[in-house]
Amino acid sequence: MALVNEHFLKLPNNYLFADISKKVNAFKVQHPTAGVISLGIGDVTRPLCPAVVEAIHKAADEMGTEGGFHGYGPEQGYAFLREAIVKNDFLPRGIHLDPSEIFVNDGAKSDTGNIQELVRWDNSIGVTDPIYPVYIDSNVMIGRAGVVNDGRWSNVVYMPCTAGNGFVPQLPDRRVDIIYLCYPNNPTGTVLSKDELRKWVNYALRNDTLIFFDAAYEAYIQNPDIPHSIYEIKGARKVAIEFHSYSKTAGFTGVRCGYTVVPKEVTAATLEGERISLHKLWYRRQCTKFNGASYISQRAAEATYTPEGREQVRQTIGYYMENARLMRNALTALGLRVYGGEDAPYLWVQTPDGEGSWRFFEQMLYNAHVVCTPGVGFGPSGEGYVRLTAFGDRDSCLEALDRIGRWLG
Ligand SMILES: *Cc1c(COP(=O)(O)O)cnc(C)c1O
Repeated sequence: MALVNEHFLKLPNNYLFADISKKVNAFKVQHPTAGVISLGIGDVTRPLCPAVVEAIHKAADEMGTEGGFHGYGPEQGYAFLREAIVKNDFLPRGIHLDPSEIFVNDGAKSDTGNIQELVRWDNSIGVTDPIYPVYIDSNVMIGRAGVVNDGRWSNVVYMPCTAGNGFVPQLPDRRVDIIYLCYPNNPTGTVLSKDELRKWVNYALRNDTLIFFDAAYEAYIQNPDIPHSIYEIKGARKVAIEFHSYSKTAGFTGVRCGYTVVPKEVTAATLEGERISLHKLWYRRQCTKFNGASYISQRAAEATYTPEGREQVRQTIGYYMENARLMRNALTALGLRVYGGEDAPYLWVQTPDGEGSWRFFEQMLYNAHVVCTPGVGFGPSGEGYVRLTAFGDRDSCLEALDRIGRWLG
């Protein structure tokens, strides 16, 4: 008899977005002509930019020739892409990485979920709250999160991010083995200043803590003082692993490509106190369980670094950020308290009069025919907020704002 991994049974089986779509579908059945607009989606909508499309065509043509066919590639990704990453994403910020410290993957979700395999099951973890659910759920699956009580896991330290603390998480009052940070943040759309991020790196250096830093939205940063990478902070190379993705940067959610930075200096200890390089372990892990992102995806990713590619990517991000600006202005004018949306494609809106997230979600659906995401779905501190995304097209974004205005105005 095969015994199931019972940790999976602890996972909440009502997945947030499935719950939302059930409620939206129920509404649509009753109101078939309402023309519901979603400001809840976490997926991009603009087409791939021409430089990327051209690179995909070219790579596909190559693959159809005897000389240009590519089978299995190098485990860590092709050198052309890893070199372009080092040169474009890090060197201009004064960060010196070796291409061998880059691991190209099929998107950041896999690695942000898998990275925890490198550390023992009984490490403690700390997360900002609210949070991207992958970090906790991937730890639940192997039993590291403990038991759940009232939406909180016993072996997880929650660091609340709310309007009360300006969405700046407080350092934990005890030592935590592993900390997950995501900046710019999904779901709150807020960022950390260099000084704030430095506090985390220093905490990690002092406490021998490992930081998993998710930079999936770094391309959306507009303020020149906000760090794009944790390696902009001195000492971070010793304590941090960083995740990047072309998904939100360049619309690759359906193409699939990203990368993880594992500096050679990052280590974790054995029980005997010996320090083990996580770079070595991750390399070993990837060689065993991963056969690389496709040649075509990697050529597509490379194209985002050409002058045309960079400009085109910048324009698409500008389009979304203009949506965000319009949304911020319109919602603020209606008297709502709106956070984020300045260096990230997400707006985090406080519900009026302390209403519950789900109740406000339903009111917006029934009164304005607009879908948002209830903040409590991202963690206990998300209660009393909803998330709106700027990933829609301009016209539906404006129409949604108009409807919300008629409802609340
Ligand atoms: C979208 C997103 C990712 C990227 O996922 P991919 O697998 O690269 O598509 C990673 N982290 C966060 C927080 C995200 O929202």
